[in-house]
Amino acid sequence: MAEVLVYIDHVDGAVGKPALELLTLARRIGEPVAVALGDGATDTVDTLAEHGAARVLTHDASEYADYLVVPKVDALQTAYEQVSPAAVLVPSSAEGKEIAARLALRIGSGIITDAIDLQAGEEGPVATQSVFAASFTTKSRVSRGTPVITVKPNSAAVDAAPAAGAVEALSVAFSDKATGTKVTSRTPRASTGRPELTEAAIVVSGGRGVNGAENFAIIEALADSLGAAVGASRAAVDAGWYPHTNQVGQTGKSVSPQLYIANGISGAIQHRAGMQTSKIIVAVNKDAEAPIFELADYGVVGDLFDIVPQLTDGINARKG
Ligand code: FAD
Repeated sequence: MAEVLVYIDHVDGAVGKPALELLTLARRIGEPVAVALGDGATDTVDTLAEHGAARVLTHDASEYADYLVVPKVDALQTAYEQVSPAAVLVPSSAEGKEIAARLALRIGSGIITDAIDLQAGEEGPVATQSVFAASFTTKSRVSRGTPVITVKPNSAAVDAAPAAGAVEALSVAFSDKATGTKVTSRTPRASTGRPELTEAAIVVSGGRGVNGAENFAIIEALADSLGAAVGASRAAVDAGWYPHTNQVGQTGKSVSPQLYIANGISGAIQHRAGMQTSKIIVAVNKDAEAPIFELADYGVVGDLFDIVPQLTDGINARKG
């Protein structure tokens, strides 16, 4: 069976959900071979094997932490040359897309970014994308070289599928360019205890209707009742009510959760661009004509200050 190279994003050996989703998708095309780099790479092996990795190629070196993406591209290229895979899958994070683009250029292949689904096809994997501010859904395949495909978080279910997970140490010779851009400092973001916005299975967002930074507490309370991340429209961010890192939309982050709850958000095209691929969309808005209702699966026409706390109480009550 053809092998599919899967680039694994992990933090000190802790593998995130998007990486496991990639393994699910890789299994539709062939046999997953995972590539885990940096500190804790070998700690990923058990999890990756449980989720279908037939082989896990690992390598650790200080270059992965000390420099920007090029050392990782060098390693992924080494793995590519060793495996000759049918496709290379990379998570659609900012870093993932840069790694994928550089690899595709080096190996003379076509690239597809931000896929939201992936199926096997007779002439190679077929990727589904949501394009033009999510107005169209397209299917495409790479017609030159080995397909390099980046996949958005929440594009597939995580399925356990035990496999051998045979560990092999990669031997990586870094290129001259690997040390071109040094990381000079790192500042950890203060943890909110909530999931990362782009990876969360549930996102609860607030817009101009929230009407003040202090009122975001009710959005956060709903999010916490569901174990969700908090998002915000640009209007709310521009007003200084919530940090820019939480902005959803064309100039913010792109999210694709199982459930997106938009509160006091009108549904401007630029906001939709960042959330329209959510599986289920719920809107709370006091204006029945708000465009967000055109794409909502469930809508509540009402004042969010009445609705949202009731929703939070109802969820907390059911949790017992
Ligand atoms: P509004 O459009 O003002 O809507 C507020 C909504 O809240 C209304 O529908 C209202 O009925 C409802 N409401 C008010 N009070 C209540 C209440 N008490 N209870 C219930 N409902 C209530 N926007 C983004 O979000 N993300 C982006 O990344 C982004 N990028 C942009 C890029 C460009 C180049 C441009 C030009 C614009 C961009 N925008 C973006 C801005 C976008 O066009 C909208 O202005 C913005 O999304 C509006 O935010 P909003 O829905 O919160 O506010």
